[in-house]
Amino acid sequence: MIDERRLKILTEGAKYDVSCSSSGSKRKNTGGIGNGYVAGCCHSFTPDGRCISLLKILMSNDCAYNCKYCPNRLGADVPRVSATPEEIAELTIDFYKRNYIEGLFLSSAVEKSPNYTMERLVRTVKLLRTQYRFHGYIHLKGIPRADGELVREAAKYADRMSYNIEFPSERSLKLLAPQKSKESLLLPMKKLAEDSLLFREEKRKGLFLPAGQTTQMIVGASPETDGQIVRLTQSLYRAMGLKRVYYSSYVPVVHDSLLPDLPVGQLREHRLYQADWLLRFYGFTAEEIAPENENLPLDLDPKCAWALRNMQYFPVEVNRAPLEVLLRVPGIGGRSAQKILEARKYTKLNFEHLKKMRVVLKRARHFITANGKFYGAETVTAVRGALTAGEQMQNAVQLSLFSDPQTALSALTGEL
Ligand code: SF4
Repeated sequence: MIDERRLKILTEGAKYDVSCSSSGSKRKNTGGIGNGYVAGCCHSFTPDGRCISLLKILMSNDCAYNCKYCPNRLGADVPRVSATPEEIAELTIDFYKRNYIEGLFLSSAVEKSPNYTMERLVRTVKLLRTQYRFHGYIHLKGIPRADGELVREAAKYADRMSYNIEFPSERSLKLLAPQKSKESLLLPMKKLAEDSLLFREEKRKGLFLPAGQTTQMIVGASPETDGQIVRLTQSLYRAMGLKRVYYSSYVPVVHDSLLPDLPVGQLREHRLYQADWLLRFYGFTAEEIAPENENLPLDLDPKCAWALRNMQYFPVEVNRAPLEVLLRVPGIGGRSAQKILEARKYTKLNFEHLKKMRVVLKRARHFITANGKFYGAETVTAVRGALTAGEQMQNAVQLSLFSDPQTALSALTGEL
């Protein structure tokens, strides 16, 4: 059984990985224990309001690699510990039975070699699925440079797998994570994407990576711009069919002359999540969201920034505009756009109707007419002033989950 000291070190070591919220998996219990839930784990909520949590743990923090930003890197002076597959499996079941967790997020430092580590990770998930008959959610990190056969084996037992790309360019990867390479991260992701198509039927039955793949990028530790990050994100969604790309604003936990001494603000990360939302749900392309060599503006969300650059398309009449145009209006989200389409079948919509549909009129009024009426500012400068003033007020107040559900949801998910 794993002791408290090792448990503390191994769980502390796993906390920097953000690529694990939302499972997207719905495996049914077929005689064992536990279930996977679509609504996800780890800081997510089921439709009935329950918060589901994961045991987030490393198998080992004894790393043979020397990534500059990592507290567990080879050169770091920290206590080194490992757990066995049997210990992790037993702990997971123990915690599950006590109702502490709903699933497992298992990662590891590269102990001895990639294959040695990957074999132990696979053994753990296999034990859980076959011996303990555990049907709960499992998210497994892939180890770069491990054999393809091991990775494929892991995918039979895990709901989700992820390789962290960490840096958007090969140059930064070489500099800050010298033992990793773009190829060692992208190749297994590509192979898993191909295998997912090959094993489509198994995937449908929950027997091959039913919740797909995710990845994480560190923001601000290297010089790449948001424009580059958004382009890479777009190609990962398009070419690899990734479920999510997560962004983690850089926080210095170790000192290195190649790394910034100060943390990168959360706002930059938030803007990237908003841009990600535009890519996934609103039909924007990376090229529309940000020029390649620029960061996203901090004083405006990326949808407002795009609209201000493209004022020739506005105002649009809400009673006539098609869905894809409504989705580009700042202040009109996916749900309110659907409500508009539905409601205008029966009546001519005015601003009162839009307010009731939760359209954020303080933003939208500058870009729409409703039944011919326009209440926005007249010049681009005035619109920009009104929008940035609104953003500043929003940033200045403590976020409430209850008084303004739309703002709270946007802050949590990046939805615009
Ligand atoms: S591979 Fe790099 S990031 Fe992962 S534990 Fe080792 S040093 Fe840290």
